[in-house]
Amino acid sequence: TGTLYIVATPIGNLQDITLRALDVLQSCDMIMAEDTRHSRVLLEQHGISNKVVALHEHNERAKADGLVAQLSQGAKIALISDAGTPLISDPGYPLVRACRQAGVAVVPVPGASAVITALSAAGLPTDRFMFIGFLAAKAGARQSQLSALMDEAATTVFYESPRRLLDTLNAMQDTMGPEREVVVARELTKQFETFLSGTLASVIEQVSTDSNQQRGEIVIMLHGARRDPDAVPAAAEQLLRLLSAQLP
Ligand code: SAM
Repeated sequence: TGTLYIVATPIGNLQDITLRALDVLQSCDMIMAEDTRHSRVLLEQHGISNKVVALHEHNERAKADGLVAQLSQGAKIALISDAGTPLISDPGYPLVRACRQAGVAVVPVPGASAVITALSAAGLPTDRFMFIGFLAAKAGARQSQLSALMDEAATTVFYESPRRLLDTLNAMQDTMGPEREVVVARELTKQFETFLSGTLASVIEQVSTDSNQQRGEIVIMLHGARRDPDAVPAAAEQLLRLLSAQLP
């Protein structure tokens, strides 16, 4: 049978593509891409003139069955997105799911992803992290997503558009307080790559006084909630009360 290759492409710097990725993109029968014109620029840079077909969030469900049929007949198909790793806040999930269910081989060809790139250099704990992706656009929904993360001990990672950066940082400050540590990574692997870090209050100050910080592509990382090591968790206290009431 055939194979679906999930191929990571650069998140900015065009050199961030692996030798194996180029090999797969060159030799497969067809490349599925989110935006064919965008991807052709990258492919041309590397002398790849393979067939490119669109697979984006509006057609990926409709196309999955047909692609699975082609793959079952032996096709070798590569999936790429506009940047980074497919399926990470990008299309591809319905197709990979359908392939797995149909017993078609799915082979990852790893490379750049903004979440891992940002975490690797931010200086925040990386032993545990939670990837949230894009928060809801509406203020109310975003607020309840943030409230649910208030006590999260792991570092949390968000993708955000530059237009909403300040609003989101302010909403984070309302929920987590001004002292929570944050890192804003911008334009990773590109000419104007920057990491702003500090308390939410100080990063909001830096972003609001420098409009350049409200441009480009952005990853926000929040330090996890710090627990007072001496405090007994509320849930444990409640359990203790219940247990001691049962004891003879
Ligand atoms: N699949 C991609 C990945 O693996 O990272 C993510 C695609 S998502 C549609 C695009 C978002 O990723 C941007 O809005 C931004 O939050 C983040 N991003 C992508 N490239 C970036 C970069 N060079 N610097 C900072 N953030 C980036």
